[in-house]
Amino acid sequence: MLDSMRRCSLLALAVAWTFAGCSTETDSATVTTGATTGSDAVVTGSDDCSQEALSGDDPQFVFTSAHRVVDGELGALCFGIEDPTITSAWGQLAAITPREQLSDLALFGGFEPDGADAAETLAFVNALDADGAQFQMSVNTVEATVDPDELLLTLAHEFSHVFTATPAQLDRTDEAIDGCDTYFNGEGCYLGDALMMGWIEAFWDDALLASVDPLEDSVEDADARCAIEPGFFGPYAATNPEEDFAEAFSAFVFRLEPATDGQAERLDWIGQQPGLAEFRERADAAGMTPLVNNFVLCG
Ligand SMILES: [Zn+2]
Repeated sequence: MLDSMRRCSLLALAVAWTFAGCSTETDSATVTTGATTGSDAVVTGSDDCSQEALSGDDPQFVFTSAHRVVDGELGALCFGIEDPTITSAWGQLAAITPREQLSDLALFGGFEPDGADAAETLAFVNALDADGAQFQMSVNTVEATVDPDELLLTLAHEFSHVFTATPAQLDRTDEAIDGCDTYFNGEGCYLGDALMMGWIEAFWDDALLASVDPLEDSVEDADARCAIEPGFFGPYAATNPEEDFAEAFSAFVFRLEPATDGQAERLDWIGQQPGLAEFRERADAAGMTPLVNNFVLCG
């Protein structure tokens, strides 16, 4: 199941958002339009808790509940009715994540899929403002109840998309994108000292990176990369450097046993980065480790 499911489709979904934090021309135009249509239209994504805003206007993602996140704590329900699946998932996310990092989230919600794309999406994260200072995390409430271990891995995976895409990591301005000499990930240009740049230097050589289209994920391309690189935690990890990191980070946090040397190198690299071992220590303390490595082998 791990590999037939997408844990998220960050970009594909994000481009549909009004305030997706995307700095592509299309989305900058959308932001401009939104900010000039009426006096109360200067609504940041984090203020708007409607079905339309939560789903990025994609009817496949039928939201059933959403909470505001205030100073790293789950706050008031702002949409739908309280769902124990979602409040429980929050508790698990908060168990593994240092509170000061949780404050990068402004919304936490759950959706029921109504369509194939949504059904395949275990969870997703999207930026709520143009500079990526605040994020929304949304969990597939149907899949969340199917496999508790899968949910844990998914929560860690998704949160890695938050801490690797804050303004201290990713510059989403048009100027930065136009002059990007690090890596443009489809939403912004990584800062030179960004965590993801270190990851790319360690695990994505120029040829591998050049085979990625940051504006459109390709399952076929990911499968081809998986076929030749045993270091990936499954074919989905071979989608792009972000998904590679996210899958490996989830494996790191929950102490999955590496199945290949390349997987072991990825786990070791993560353990050497400041602050990341704390997630694993917290997972240990919460009794959540170890989980079984069910990732389909690459290579
Ligand atoms: Zn992901």
